[in-house]
Amino acid sequence: MTYIKPTKKAVLSIRDIVKRFPTADHRYLTACNHVSLELHQGESLAIVGESGCGKSTLVKVIMRLHDATAGSVLYDGQDIIRFTGEEKRQNYRHMQMVFQDPAQAFNPKMKIRDIVCEPLYNFALLSKAEAENRAKELLHMVELPADFADRYAANMSGGQRQRIAIARALALNPDILICDEATSALDVSVQKKIIDLLLRIQQQTSLSIIFICHDLALVYQMCHRAAVMYLGNIVEVLPAGYLKEAKHPYTQALLRSIFPLRAKGECEVATLQGEIPSPLDLPQGCPFQERCSFCMAICRETVPELRLIGREHMVACHLLDVSEKEVKTEEIE
Ligand code: SF4
Repeated sequence: MTYIKPTKKAVLSIRDIVKRFPTADHRYLTACNHVSLELHQGESLAIVGESGCGKSTLVKVIMRLHDATAGSVLYDGQDIIRFTGEEKRQNYRHMQMVFQDPAQAFNPKMKIRDIVCEPLYNFALLSKAEAENRAKELLHMVELPADFADRYAANMSGGQRQRIAIARALALNPDILICDEATSALDVSVQKKIIDLLLRIQQQTSLSIIFICHDLALVYQMCHRAAVMYLGNIVEVLPAGYLKEAKHPYTQALLRSIFPLRAKGECEVATLQGEIPSPLDLPQGCPFQERCSFCMAICRETVPELRLIGREHMVACHLLDVSEKEVKTEEIE
């Protein structure tokens, strides 16, 4: 895989985002708890964590599929979560999303030509007469034959449908692409082709990508940085190529729970013990305290702040405040 070097210019600044959902019994479920992150131009930023950690909710807040409870998301100097009406609609020209199962997002009665050109029609950027050529260009970009324009999505494989979803998402030349588990449902070989395709497009266009993913090995291979989320909180941010240097006990536990690529015979994979606490009843102090074998008194009282401990490496853990001792790390093979 070939990488571009991202600039340090923030194309998106997520600041102190809180998202709470009211429940039927008049309580609140906290999905995002004061999340702050920056996405740089030309960067692939992974957001990783267990199911239910809030990563999909966060990107839905960015895409305005959910309204934030508090906080801001700055794009081009403007807080896009304050946009309404036409301003909100126009913002989709700059950021688009690819979902895990694109088949659910396609109208089965539409031909591929109209699916990939639909965003251009929506913004009156293309006439029906121009659609033939533009559809061919978009199909070429995602390495599909031009005659696919006359087909229907139902007659395609999962990998082909995901390419169509990427073509449609990129039709408007957005600055930001959000991939929410976009490759998780695909075979490993197809997954690699889709990742290679995204990296090639990123190299040609300086696209910034947010990549929601469970697969740490994939993140290690393809992303520039990784943000680790637990119970609605960002607990660690670091360069993806340095994942093995992770310092937060949760990130380390995630790394210990994946199978090494070159395992021979028996290999030990340590699963993370205990359950994630209910987001309806967040603990005081560190969100990871119930599952952390290093938990101290301060962890039950004070929420650890996300702070810089090295180049582009931020961790929210009291261990780094009170001890010189390095937390043991494990290698991803
Ligand atoms: Fe564990 Fe305390 Fe660090 Fe939380 S702050 S991860 S409980 S050591």
